[in-house]
Amino acid sequence: MAKILSGRECAATMREEIRVQVEELKNKHNLTPGLAVVLVGDDPASVSYVKGKEKACEKAGIMSREYKFDADYKEDALLKLIDELNHDNKIHGILVQLPLPKHFNEEKVLFAIDPEKDVDGFHPVNLGKMMIGEPRFLPATPHGIQQLLIRNDIEIAGKHVVIVGRSNIVGKPLAMILVQKKPGANATVSMCHTGTKNMPDMTRQADILVVAAGRPHTVKASMVKDGVVVVDVGVNRIEDKTKKKGFRLIGDVEFDEVSAKASAITPVPGGVGPMTITMLLHNTLQAAKNHAGIP
Ligand code: NAP
Repeated sequence: MAKILSGRECAATMREEIRVQVEELKNKHNLTPGLAVVLVGDDPASVSYVKGKEKACEKAGIMSREYKFDADYKEDALLKLIDELNHDNKIHGILVQLPLPKHFNEEKVLFAIDPEKDVDGFHPVNLGKMMIGEPRFLPATPHGIQQLLIRNDIEIAGKHVVIVGRSNIVGKPLAMILVQKKPGANATVSMCHTGTKNMPDMTRQADILVVAAGRPHTVKASMVKDGVVVVDVGVNRIEDKTKKKGFRLIGDVEFDEVSAKASAITPVPGGVGPMTITMLLHNTLQAAKNHAGIP
């Protein structure tokens, strides 16, 4: 039976490390890291993610300021707010929860954030720095996946990592991170997407398989080799009347049958999700330190 790679446990350890560092920053430098969280509209998943991020900030001692607007909020007003936050000394990180309602140009909004405060790591300056191996902030989900593997003593160097999904927030940055000639990376990386011919041939070659397709049942047991390490990034809401909320979460991987062949696997929920929030806290702490010139 596969080892369960618990993001919850790994995140708890990392969040305690971050809390201690935040306390030290307050005591020694009189500096409290501050995060602005912007939410437009009432998409239920986004509302729940924002709630989770704010709770995690509070526990870590990070000040979080919430900006919530109706779905008809105007792009100009949001750009003005971002400009104000860019100049606000108490705010070290700015997070705009995605997706934004359709009338927003997401690129324009994300590019308006000062790269020094771009704790999501989505600004092209930060993406470029990541690509050349000199990152300022690594995007939270791929960085969380890397940390989860490293902290579970899973060797990445020399391994064939196959990633299903090429989004700008998961697949592409993860490939960039794991291909670097650095400790905790140095992998051979392949990427699959809807244009990939015969995907099972690719996934069966994976020593480490990361699945971020956003579709349940994307990976079945017949698509993996014995001993593979599987990271399931997918979060899919499935109707379930037995649950209080009326739904439950499942990943992109057929967990039961794939875990019978894998050497290690992440659960959904409790796998990648908690790591993502943790790396956001990590980046906010880093942004505050950078702002004060503290190494
Ligand atoms: P996305 O932007 O929709 O991208 C999905 C990618 O998967 C695309 O590149 C798509 O290919 C590819 N794909 C979809 N179906 C496929 C299939 N059957 N075969 C091969 N490739 C396929 O999604 P995302 O934002 O990366 O998110 C992916 C999933 O991860 C979602 O469930 C999301 O909720 C979850 N997520 C979780 C966290 C977390 O912290 N736990 C964070 C971020 C995302 P094309 O490019 O060809 O369309």
